[in-house]
Formats: sequence, structure tokens, C-alpha cells
Amino acid sequence: MKPLESGSGPKPTESTEASESSERSNFIRDIIIADIQAGKHGGRVQTRFPPEPNGYLHIGHAKAICLDFGLAAEFGGKCNLRFDDTNPSKEETEYVEAIMEDVRWLGFEWDGLFYASDYFGQLYEWAVQLIRADKAYVCDLSADEIRQYRGTLTEPGRESPYRYRSIEENLDLFERMKKGEFPDGSRTLRAKIDMSSPNLNLRDPVMYRILHMHHHRTGDAWCIYPMYDYAHGQSDSLERVTHSICTLEFDNNRPLYDWFIEQLCIFPSRQYEFDRLSITYTLLSKRKLLRLVQEGHVTGWDDPRMPTLSGMRRRGYTPEAIRNFCANIGVSRTNGITQLSHLEYFLREDLNRSAARVMGVLRPLRVVIDNYPDDLVEEMEAINNPEDESAGTRRVPFSKVLYIEREDFREDPPKQFFRLAPGREVRLRYGYLITCRSVVKDKDGNIVELHCTYDPATRGGNTPDGRKVKSTIHWVSAAHAVDAEVRLYDNLFTREDPDEVEEGQDFTANLNPNSLEALTRCKVEPGLRDAVAGARYQFERMGYFCVDADSSPGRPVFNRTIGLRDTWAKIEQRGKK
Ligand code: ATP
Ligand code: MG
Repeated sequence: MKPLESGSGPKPTESTEASESSERSNFIRDIIIADIQAGKHGGRVQTRFPPEPNGYLHIGHAKAICLDFGLAAEFGGKCNLRFDDTNPSKEETEYVEAIMEDVRWLGFEWDGLFYASDYFGQLYEWAVQLIRADKAYVCDLSADEIRQYRGTLTEPGRESPYRYRSIEENLDLFERMKKGEFPDGSRTLRAKIDMSSPNLNLRDPVMYRILHMHHHRTGDAWCIYPMYDYAHGQSDSLERVTHSICTLEFDNNRPLYDWFIEQLCIFPSRQYEFDRLSITYTLLSKRKLLRLVQEGHVTGWDDPRMPTLSGMRRRGYTPEAIRNFCANIGVSRTNGITQLSHLEYFLREDLNRSAARVMGVLRPLRVVIDNYPDDLVEEMEAINNPEDESAGTRRVPFSKVLYIEREDFREDPPKQFFRLAPGREVRLRYGYLITCRSVVKDKDGNIVELHCTYDPATRGGNTPDGRKVKSTIHWVSAAHAVDAEVRLYDNLFTREDPDEVEEGQDFTANLNPNSLEALTRCKVEPGLRDAVAGARYQFERMGYFCVDADSSPGRPVFNRTIGLRDTWAKIEQRGKK
């Protein structure tokens, strides 16, 4: 546990001032500035954020969102939200709604709201146009055969035997594909580019596949669906996107992105790639996060251990903390790994500024103050937020029987343990100085109660004679305390890289069996009785906590967002080594 001063851990090396970091240079920003100066597109900036609605957004998406929306805002431009919904097998309306909620929660509002499926008609017409120009053909190879014909990085591919079908035959077959005459997987439409290109994406990539499947928006209107590469650039172009920003793994798709735009002579959107966010102890892949949900390793997409925005929100992350983090990590063209502590730094920094302070005891130990009047209740004045004077003060009841934190007492205190011990005096935060006189144990030797005395001259924790006490601890009045549940979280994975596994295993082998600890007998100060879900607090000395939606009237449930910097645990750990 931490001494009372609030603080937020080691500072990342770079400046963390929000105003400064949002303007920190990055190479995409430099490109935009150069384009504006050159008068490209009349100085107009249009970006888009293009999630596939096949899962919830995660912290990696937050980086992309901050870039897409942030750069547009910085240069007086616009940013669209476009759902890349070209794969009906994985996409759902639930995800569409969750994504919109998360983007807004993060603090952004889109200009246009679009769906790639809005463009199915136009994309089809363009495909016909490419067939007419002898730039696309219907191919009867199976998916496996297409893969075999594609060749490798060192060997050129082979041309499909269907590559030289007549334009008329292609037009006829493509139309019949659309009408639903052929079964799934029996035919594709492919671009006619170059089977010996060093870029595998240019070896006659598939543009359309047959999929008799219900789409969350277009229903059963279509049974052919465009591939990502055929849909993405054209969607950008239709929205007159000037800077299409995506992650580095799309680097090799850029020539194909450009090829379609050039062949169709449409608005010349350009793609720019940046480094994908990876964080230690964290998985950032919707496919894998979906498995965690489906296999019950977590309670849902919004489990507070999930790196999804909905999980982080429930855990108690603030949008500001996430935005500041995203601004600080910067943008580059080299994938790296960011320390989780780097994200946590920005979380603590923001919560330290904004969270109201309260007292809550997680593992209660009863304390009776023998010389305190039986029926007296005093209202002690407590400061709500030392970082924010305008937050004011509140009154906390003090009485004869209190709870303190079990770990704030040691019968046989080790060196450097300055909290309560037999015969020792400590300060109760906003209360009095108390001295431990005796210890009551049950028949098994467990400590069940302490008997203390208090010094009436020390009200508010002052020492009129100037005597020193080395420790201040928190407490709640037993008669006034509210019962609460507190959920403590640890990393979901035990390895820095959750994907690092033995042969035959997968990331689930690295799940941390102790990632959740629920404490059901906690005691919190009375003002928290009806705390509102989503409200964030600092429990003095114990960390930051957020009220969970599982709370019921009179029985709040808190998620520990993150601990304070834990100095004593460090001392103890050092001792053990
Ligand atoms: P996942 O592998 O988690 O499914 P994705 O890239 O397939 O991610 P999309 O919905 O296609 O997810 O992503 C929408 C946008 O968010 C894309 O521009 C993508 O590049 C970006 N993005 C996704 N993951 C990250 C990440 N870890 N870091 C930065 N940007 C990301
Ligand atoms: Mg994707």
C-alpha cells in the first residue's frame, strides 16, 4: 500500500502534456501538412475509421481512431465512420452498435456514417466495367487450387486455365453468379493483373466470391460478396477520402489498392500505413478476444479484464487517459511492443486529477476504541480531492468501533513496517491518533479485534505537542459502514507475450488463473451507499475504483481500476528475494 500522498508512478520518457503531445509531429501528419501546402485536393483533409463489425473495439483501435479523427480535426477536415461489412459470416448488428458507442465514448463524432455494403451496387457495376475492359475474369478454380496456382515469394504463379475466357462469357457468368445460379466456392471473379508479380497480392487477386449468406444489412439481396481489397479503396474513393490510414500489415496491399483506383479512373485516395499497437500481457486481436468470450474465460466483451474499450470503460479507464496514451506513443513505421505500465501511467495520471477520494476497507479488522464515549458520533471533515480544490470537502462519521485494513496491523512488525502494532501509535486519516493496547484472537489464533485508546487532543489528526507518528491509515466507522463487494484484477495473461506458447498449445495456456479476486466483505464509507455505476473514486491508499453495473441499491460493487504505486509491497518483495 501507498502512503497518503497521491502520485502516479514513473513518468514515461517523453512529455505527457496533452496539448503538446497532440501536436507532436508524426510522419502521417507531415504528409498531410505537405499535401495541404501543395494544394492537393484544394487543401481538403478527409479520413475514415473503417472497423469490421466482427467484434468489439480494443485499445489498438483506439490508436487508429485517435489518428483518423484527431488528424482530421487538427486540419479542419472530416472523418467518416465506415463499417467494413463485406463478410456476412462474421458480422452482426450488435457489433455495429457497440462500435458506435465506443467511438463516441472515446470522445469522437463522425461526419459521415457509411457501410461498405452501401456500395455493393456500385462495386458490382465497377466489376462489370473491369470485365468489359478485359481486366477481370470469372475463374472456376477452387480456393485450394487458386492457392496452388499463386506460387510463392520465390516462384512465379501459374495462370488460371480460365484466364482467357471471352469478355462475353465472363459477363454472362458473373451475372449468373450474382443471380445465385452457382454454389458457394464454385467460382470467383478475379482481377487480371500479373501472375508473375513479385507482389503476391497482384497475382490475379480474387474480387468476388460466392456466399449464400444473410447479411446484417443487405439481407438476402446478394450472394456474391466483394473481398476486402476490392471494396476498401473504392469505398475510400467514393467518400473522397484523401488520407486512408491503416496498419502496416496492409503495406503489401497498397499496390492493389492503387491498381483498382487507376483502372477505374476514380477519385485518387491514397493509403498510408502506421505501426500496429501491441501491449505486453495483452492480446489485441478480435478473433482471439472472441474466443475468450465464447469459451467463457471472461464474462463477456466488457469484462473489466478485457482490452476492449467497453471492458476498459467498465474497469474505470477514462477516455482522456486512453487519448493521452495514444498521443504519447506516437506513430512510426516499425512495429514494436508497448509496456502495459506505459498505459497505466496515463490512467493513474488522469484519475489522480479527477477521482474523488473516499475511504474503503477491503479486508476489514475490527478496532474498538476503549476510551471513546459509547454513543458519540463525530462528523470528521475530509478533503474530496487534494488535486482539485473545487471538489470541496465532505463529512465522514467517526465512532467507537471502526474497521481498519487487516494488513495495516502486524502483531510482530518487521523493520520498516510503521503502521499499527501492539503499543504503537498511528494516525487515523481525518480522525484521531490511536494506540494499540491489546489483541483479541479466536481459538485458532486468528486476530479478530484490536483494542485501542485514542488521544482526544488529536482531533482531525493533529498533534498539538508536535509529536511524530510515522503512519496514517484509513478506516470506516463500523456502525455507519456500507457493505460492498470489490473485484480486484490482475493481468489476464501471465506472459508478456500471450502468444508465446509451447508446441501444441495456444494463448489460452497463458491465461492467469488469478486474474480476478472478488472480496465480498468490504466496508466503505456511508456516502458510497448509492454510488452510481461508472463513477470513479480513489479509495485512499488502496487504489482507484469504479462502480460496476452489478451494484444493487445499498450494496455497491466496485472494480479496482488500478492500484496506487505500491511502495510497501516493493519493500516486502525486495525482502523476499
Ligand atoms: P483485429 O485483428 O483485432 O480484428 P483488424 O485490423 O482486423 O483488427 P479492423 O476492424 O479491420 O480490425 O480495424 C479497423 C481499423 O483499426 C483498421 O484501420 C486497423 O488497421 C486499425 N487497427 C486494428 N488493430 C489495431 C492495432 N492493434 N493498432 C492500431 N490500429 C489497429
Ligand atoms: Mg480486419
